[in-house]
Amino acid sequence: MTDFSKTRAMFHLPEGMTYLNGNSLGPMPRASEAAISRFLNDEWKNELIKGWNSKGWYTQTNTLGDRIGRLIGAPEGSTVVGDTLSIKVFQAVAAGLALVPERRIILSDSGNFPSDLYMAEGLMKLKDDGYSLRTPDPEQVMDAISDEVAVLLITEVDYRTGRKHDMKALIEKAHSHGAVVVWDLAHSVGALPVDVTSTEVDFAVGCTYKYLNGGPGAPAFIYVAPRHIGSAEPALSGWFGHAAPFDFALSYTPANAIERMRVGTPSIASFALLNAALDVWDNVDMQDLRARSVELSELFITEVENRCPGVTLASPRNALERGSHVSFRFEHGYACMQALIAQGVIGDFRAPDIMRFGIAPLFNSEADILRAVDVLAQILRDESWQDARFQLRAPVT
Ligand SMILES: *Cc1c(COP(=O)(O)O)cnc(C)c1O
Repeated sequence: MTDFSKTRAMFHLPEGMTYLNGNSLGPMPRASEAAISRFLNDEWKNELIKGWNSKGWYTQTNTLGDRIGRLIGAPEGSTVVGDTLSIKVFQAVAAGLALVPERRIILSDSGNFPSDLYMAEGLMKLKDDGYSLRTPDPEQVMDAISDEVAVLLITEVDYRTGRKHDMKALIEKAHSHGAVVVWDLAHSVGALPVDVTSTEVDFAVGCTYKYLNGGPGAPAFIYVAPRHIGSAEPALSGWFGHAAPFDFALSYTPANAIERMRVGTPSIASFALLNAALDVWDNVDMQDLRARSVELSELFITEVENRCPGVTLASPRNALERGSHVSFRFEHGYACMQALIAQGVIGDFRAPDIMRFGIAPLFNSEADILRAVDVLAQILRDESWQDARFQLRAPVT
């Protein structure tokens, strides 16, 4: 059994703060400070450019990719890190479209995170070749899979409500219709058991600053099914994806390996932080993590529904249909969340009326859940959310 009191002790959690936002930005692992200091003092400071070879910077896209691969069931050599998730979505969708050149439909759903849809729109505009994007309601997406679909672009867990798709069933149906699947793991990796191999998904992408705790702006990752690696077309043909970058050839030839999904020089300081954050996962069993997430989520829902009149559950009631965050609707959700934050209970708000609480078993405990409910109940009781200072909208909600 995974000992979650041990994993909790591996994080810096500020005194007096109840952090229920690990689904958006994970907290700082205690090891991060030494890791960044080692990077500065043992690597950059004295090695300078030699570090690309002597400290392995050049291959960290792959060594970190393989470490993430272990969390998503990917074999070695099929995952690389770098860039941002939006960029990785673009690359995966572009490569997917190129595998089915005669089709013109990208199918996603209206619950997807907007950036994924925006990247698909930008790609279609660039291709200027009759492509269109369909975004039915998430409940309708299964029925919308047809022989017209080139790429099915699905984020497993809805960023607002936590509603979780049945990826195995979606992938099976998409494949039976000859479509390629891009699975966005933004709210899945580090939150749920994921197996890209047994589900036979074609591409998977995700970020590492949410449940993986790599720090703000930590690099994204992309998985390409081994059967596609030799043929997946790299739309962003930067020199780091070239077969021989240091030949400096005038024309691009993609690496015959997952490196073809690299683009340009990655942020090595971020890699040092991500590497330290991934150490926390070495002793975590994903089935234990999921069981703990469900246990804490059920406690949270029961307590809120018993003690917080006026808020309504926005997430599916059935734990099997949720990821690892729980959301409630409340007309004055923004102000109420500001009032919670003022008392050290940190969740976030998603328009128009959703208060969102991430439950990350690596560091969240029953005590966190009970304190959050105590404070929420009190704010609703005394209506302190009405205070003028809680109405002002900050740029990041
Ligand atoms: C968080 C998230 C993103 C963010 O993309 P970035 O490029 O990292 O800013 C994109 N897609 C989904 C589904 C997300 O949840």
